[in-house]
Amino acid sequence: MRVLFVSSEVAPFSKTGGLADVSGALPAALSRRGLDVRVMTPFYRAVVQGGWASAACGEVTLDPGGSVQTARIREGTLPGGPPVWFVDHPPSFDRPGLYGEGGQDYPDNLERFALFCRAVLAWVQAADWVPEVIHCNDWQTALLPVYLRTSAEPLWSRVGSLLTVHNLAYQGVFPPEKYALLGLPQDLYSPRYFEFWGRVNLLKAGLVFADILSTVSETYAREIQTPELGCGLESVLRERAADLYGILNGVDYTVWDPRNDTYLPVRYGPDDLSGKATCKAALQEEVGLHRTPSVPLFGMVSRLVEQKGVDLVVACVDHFPAAGAQLVVLGTGDPRYEAELQNAGRRHPGWVAVRIGFDERLAHWIEAGCDAFLMPSRYEPSGLNQLYSLRYGTVPVVRRTGGLADSVVDATPEALERGEANGFVFEEYTPGAFWGAVQRALAAYQHRSTWEKLVRTGMSADFSWDRAAGRYVDLYRLARRRRGAVPS
Ligand code: ADP
Repeated sequence: MRVLFVSSEVAPFSKTGGLADVSGALPAALSRRGLDVRVMTPFYRAVVQGGWASAACGEVTLDPGGSVQTARIREGTLPGGPPVWFVDHPPSFDRPGLYGEGGQDYPDNLERFALFCRAVLAWVQAADWVPEVIHCNDWQTALLPVYLRTSAEPLWSRVGSLLTVHNLAYQGVFPPEKYALLGLPQDLYSPRYFEFWGRVNLLKAGLVFADILSTVSETYAREIQTPELGCGLESVLRERAADLYGILNGVDYTVWDPRNDTYLPVRYGPDDLSGKATCKAALQEEVGLHRTPSVPLFGMVSRLVEQKGVDLVVACVDHFPAAGAQLVVLGTGDPRYEAELQNAGRRHPGWVAVRIGFDERLAHWIEAGCDAFLMPSRYEPSGLNQLYSLRYGTVPVVRRTGGLADSVVDATPEALERGEANGFVFEEYTPGAFWGAVQRALAAYQHRSTWEKLVRTGMSADFSWDRAAGRYVDLYRLARRRRGAVPS
């Protein structure tokens, strides 16, 4: 099966978040399954700066809104196999940021990603390779299903589309006067398609036109059909409920496995956990916590934003030392949360350590060195850190939402008995409910056999990409079957 995977960020070439990890790992897993997968992504300045310069293999001419533009296509390869075509259009992509700078989005993001989508289709037309399915990701590529289904080009009637939503909070919303730049019929600027409260919403139109829709966990697929987490698109998604699927993201175990993690001071596995104790001591030393082996150590690695439940951690931070537990937090984000956490670190030296910044190595050390990991998210489409934690024998404490609900099994007596429990789960988004789950974790930590059972259950779970890739192949088959379907 021929699949074109289109994404606005692909690790290791470019990355702002989890989308890049998915786009780097899933195509490789698909090609291991024998699919003919190609990837297309913008040729940002970051790609060159990362040392991924690649040779031009052709060019496409586009005329968005009457002004003729040329984009070069460059050819590369993803580590692990699949060929990558980069769209090189310097006015759009040779910039310091992917989507913006200094916390501000680029004002021409609609033009940039509309051009990217047009270049993708122009290149497919020119290349001697027509995909059966185009796999689109998030608002930046949501125009592809629209162009496929509204173009007069007969080639496209045979090409199916899957649109995956990685985080519904980001929709690509622009002022109404920008609509004319898309080169689409004026009657599509209506509440049925692009219009969203008087503005242009690219993701909304993509959700209407794509053959099949997916998101990154089964629970999130249900949650986004409700007013609480639907971000205003719940009725659009409910209308398409029969075509909407949830597939939990996978983990790249070549990078995130304590048995072969090259960042760690020592490696360990389920058969010998002594290395984990060494990692804990090294972490305590590294971040300035008292080096006591028996103290329960909680960790958090996260963007410090409202989504991640940082306010719950801030509300309870003083309870950790009071309960005889240590806490280490690594993250960047909202300056208010950064300051509050740093203040807590100053109030509790040796007990609470806070590192503001992005630090890949320390993220691995925290996964390995902690006893438990905090993810009290307000919402969490898939979440990766809880999956890493499980593999590192670091028991996750999570809120029951999105991908957290689909991967962490609460340590009730029954679930422990069945050997299914692997963490602690709370429901209500309140400091009391969060702290209740931490207290249950603290109690279990004192009960060595219970704790070890939790650790071992977590370490034995398989959240590899190979499993998720099989489910994507099923969706590609569905999309292929829908070819030519035009929404009414
Ligand atoms: P999201 O994509 O919403 O940020 P995920 O849990 O899906 O959340 O993925 C976050 C990824 O980013 C994880 O790999 C996590 O380790 C990493 N990460 C987040 N913040 C930091 C940080 N400050 N330093 C290092 N890695 C980080």
